[in-house]
Amino acid sequence: MVVPKERSGRDRRVFVMLAFVALLANWTASSLAAESSASPAAAALGSASRDVTKVLIDAYPATVRAGADNEHIVVNGRVLPLSDGKEWPTYQERLDHADLIDQLSQAYPAGCPAEVPSGGEIPQEPGRLRDEAFFKAMYGESAAVVQGTLVSVAWFGSTMHVTNVNGVAKHLVAVRDDLAQHPEWLKYLTNPGGSFFWRTIEGTKRLSGHSFGIAVDINTKYSDYWRWSKGGYKNRIPCELAAIFERHGFIWGAKWSHFDTMHFEYRPELLRG
Ligand SMILES: [Zn+2]
Repeated sequence: MVVPKERSGRDRRVFVMLAFVALLANWTASSLAAESSASPAAAALGSASRDVTKVLIDAYPATVRAGADNEHIVVNGRVLPLSDGKEWPTYQERLDHADLIDQLSQAYPAGCPAEVPSGGEIPQEPGRLRDEAFFKAMYGESAAVVQGTLVSVAWFGSTMHVTNVNGVAKHLVAVRDDLAQHPEWLKYLTNPGGSFFWRTIEGTKRLSGHSFGIAVDINTKYSDYWRWSKGGYKNRIPCELAAIFERHGFIWGAKWSHFDTMHFEYRPELLRG
């Protein structure tokens, strides 16, 4: 057994050396490519960064401004990176560690009719990817800080508590006043499921949009949620009702593969353009 062992040791050394040479050749080639003006990957990343910065400034003019370079933005005076520089191998990991590029990586399908979101390998659920550092910088690092920004909004015989940062409370009042023109929808709006609540999303370590005072749940009686629902996608809330929320900057959880049909969340960055 000694001979094969030695041979296999030598083979391994040869292999390692060949692999090193191949790696060196590859590195030299890619360095040369990067040095020439043709570096499409870098250019694409640069333009994605600029697009994300512009979308965020347009959506949150009161709280977001451009950073000193294309890689960062400033939220309430705090410098945040657009990207974590990591390539997470699975969608679940991206969801758990979303950065701002991820947050804007899926287009939100505003308007009606609402199509059933595709539930393939990469679920379609724009808005579920949240860069938690961004929301903490914008709305508050803790329950106490967010609580200090909350405003009570009368809501069809109940009260919603949402933040006044970014004018969220004002936008919710506009939603309510438009919805009040539709008595036929009253049953979906009374007895709401809730609004501000500092908590993680069920079964995860990620903070819910409710933690930041930007989310409301309408009547749970007509709600469907992917964790409870048997037999796949289901929605009983009229799309036209949700379209009113969308017009004022709130996205709808019924447009997610992992659906949550009573959930509306102020996310104007997904509703522009
Ligand atoms: Zn909710």
